[in-house]
Amino acid sequence: MKKILEVQNLVKYFPVLGGVFSRPVGYVKAVDDVSFHIFEGETFGLVGESGSGKTTTGKTLLKLIEPTKGKIIFEGKDISKLSTSEMRSLRKSMQIIFQDPYGSLNPRLPVGEIIREPLLVHKIGTKKEQEERVVEIMKLVGLRPEYLHRYPHEFSGGQRQRIGIARSIVMNPKFIVADEPVSALDASVQAQVLNLLLELQQKLALTYLLVAHNLAVVRHISDRIGVMYLGKLVEVAETKELFSKPLHPYTQALLSAIPIPDPEVKKERILLQGDIPSPINPPSGCRFRTRCRYAKDICAEKEPSLVEVSDGHFVSCHFVKKGPVIEYTIK
Ligand code: SF4
Repeated sequence: MKKILEVQNLVKYFPVLGGVFSRPVGYVKAVDDVSFHIFEGETFGLVGESGSGKTTTGKTLLKLIEPTKGKIIFEGKDISKLSTSEMRSLRKSMQIIFQDPYGSLNPRLPVGEIIREPLLVHKIGTKKEQEERVVEIMKLVGLRPEYLHRYPHEFSGGQRQRIGIARSIVMNPKFIVADEPVSALDASVQAQVLNLLLELQQKLALTYLLVAHNLAVVRHISDRIGVMYLGKLVEVAETKELFSKPLHPYTQALLSAIPIPDPEVKKERILLQGDIPSPINPPSGCRFRTRCRYAKDICAEKEPSLVEVSDGHFVSCHFVKKGPVIEYTIK
């Protein structure tokens, strides 16, 4: 399979300013040495608690946030050092769907203009061609073309997210970062929007990075999943493998929190102790050690690396490479 995107040792630190001169007094280590790749046509899910660095990773890949260090290779080209103007032409191929469909739509523009805006900015087609494209895309995402002149406030949450999706695909991109695309929607609408994303992926040969905190959402449409904790990638595996054989204690805790709608099935709930530590001063060694029930002395002294323990299954834990130390099955 061909890689469309490769992320090598990505780092993003945000300065914490203090003192009378507003100088950096520390750094929020939001993303700290993260490497992974995404194959053409797949959905790669990125999950973790709030503060894990997943959204920063997604936005950094599109250079909506400048990386501190590391390489982002898109279709064989290193884009990490490209300037804003050089990135402009790449924007046609790389797009984002935002979490809050209402907040990301201009309330003063009718829907047709919102969807047409990227075509105007990039000077693609004549006015007539742009209008035809907007109607075509509206139909594709399940919006009636007669809604063209309506404003965002006249739509439901699900319809607004369809408008956001329409705007992100109007230029025929190849790669889309979907940042919590359904977390602001009612449960009844979530599946419809996820199914629409799947349908569009098949029709338009799209590749997705799906950022979400809800593992059930990620499972629904992801081919592979990466689990992030405090700025680090702790486990990467194919979706089926991750759900049937989670190896990192953090992944196991996340999976144990997913309810199973069958009273006959008993599952141990692993409760994580305390809150996620501050990314300004993360724990030494393994960052998960302050909440890990298997932590030993070595976990505080040495940082584990992300190693491939079986075909395509990567884990960052000192003990997992010798074979899973932890008995865990999800029925
Ligand atoms: Fe837990 Fe240690 Fe493994 Fe980290 S390295 S996940 S603290 S056992």
